Amino acid sequence: MPNTTNTALQTRRETALPRGINTNMPVFTARAENAEIWDVEGKRYIDFASGIAAVATGHRHPKVIAAVKKQLDSFAHVCATVTPYEPYVALAEKVNALMPGPGEKRSVFLSTGAEAVENAVKIARIATGRPGVIAFNGAFHGRTLLTVALTGKVAPYKLGVAPLPPEIFHVPYPDAYHGVSVADALKGIDNLFHYDIEARRVAAIIVEPIQGEGGFNPAPAEFLQGVRKICDDNGIVMIVDEIQTGFGRTGKMFAVEHSGVAPDLMTVAKSLGGGFPISGVVGKASVMDVPPVGSIGGTFAGNPLSCAAGLAVLDVIEKEHLVERAVALGKIISDKLEAMARRNEFACIGNLRGLGAMRAMELVKDRTTREPATELTKALVAKAAGNGLILLTCGINANVVRFLPALTIPEAHLREGLDILEASLAELVAN
Ligand code: PMP
Repeated sequence: MPNTTNTALQTRRETALPRGINTNMPVFTARAENAEIWDVEGKRYIDFASGIAAVATGHRHPKVIAAVKKQLDSFAHVCATVTPYEPYVALAEKVNALMPGPGEKRSVFLSTGAEAVENAVKIARIATGRPGVIAFNGAFHGRTLLTVALTGKVAPYKLGVAPLPPEIFHVPYPDAYHGVSVADALKGIDNLFHYDIEARRVAAIIVEPIQGEGGFNPAPAEFLQGVRKICDDNGIVMIVDEIQTGFGRTGKMFAVEHSGVAPDLMTVAKSLGGGFPISGVVGKASVMDVPPVGSIGGTFAGNPLSCAAGLAVLDVIEKEHLVERAVALGKIISDKLEAMARRNEFACIGNLRGLGAMRAMELVKDRTTREPATELTKALVAKAAGNGLILLTCGINANVVRFLPALTIPEAHLREGLDILEASLAELVAN
């Protein structure tokens, strides 16, 4: 018999934690292995969330755990700026080599995604001597003060938080399903230069190659190429936020590679750590080397355990061919979702999209009006959890189900999860 229950823990959680920390579902984890989770009551789940895209190599990949244990036997923390250590340098060398585009690269490691974005913006401002930063409607870059200002969604992130850092501007992100073309989005930047801030005062444009929290909208290649050109023409630093898309998820090591664009700076995090907190900014040496000595870094930034994990993760991605596997997994997911969308009772499936294994299903009340089916989506997450599947939503109306299974998930578990999804939606629409 379990010595506690999800309900008992949820009650304790509600009195010990603030309301502002969301609970996706009251499922308290006891154990996790690759793409499976067991809760405190012994119930098993297939995991399609991967800790919000943070374990592409699965929970507790044996090579990652072994690397962290080995590091733990030597030292856990000394601070990379006090007495440095090889795993940090080795990880920087590896990530530099992976970054798209020619020339010398540099990497700085931090702990969270938001911290990486903060640093990328600082580096771009220092390198250009300019203040302005352009981000996109629907973007998600974090919850710290600067990153919440960059995030392109008011509720719940920005409510009551003002004053937010100034000189940040938002423009439309391309979204074919909701009528925003690439031309509209690029025109938005041009308009900004006419109406709000002159291009020569803009330090950076920060863009997700596929909006993650915003709804898994892939940016067409022409859009990213257009942004690259605007940056080149105006001396603006192009920052690509690969925090959710990076490390194989989309069928390329980095999603920006689908467009052939080489950014100036890239932010990385999540799956690099294989479950351990690490983030980074990787970029052209000519930009990264401008900030003065002592201006970037942090006490736990580039923690040895996380660097050891990161090195193991990159090894696993290569040896287990996870970039290629993302394409195969994505095909299994999209074949299943397409078959579901053809079922008459599933007219609520409005749109299917994604790249590689980063896929999404948008639920609507009506396929013509495309009105968001937010309540149905919420109910689907709860129903799926009851049936043993962990799902996440996204999108500005929270009506998009996103699929982020570990790239190491056994095919049988992937298919089992997709069957639970189908059965759960069928149960809901039948009622
Ligand atoms: N950028 C993107 C694209 C993200 O998806 C996220 C997290 N969902 C962040 C930044 C912020 O990362 P963190 O939660 O680690 O601060």
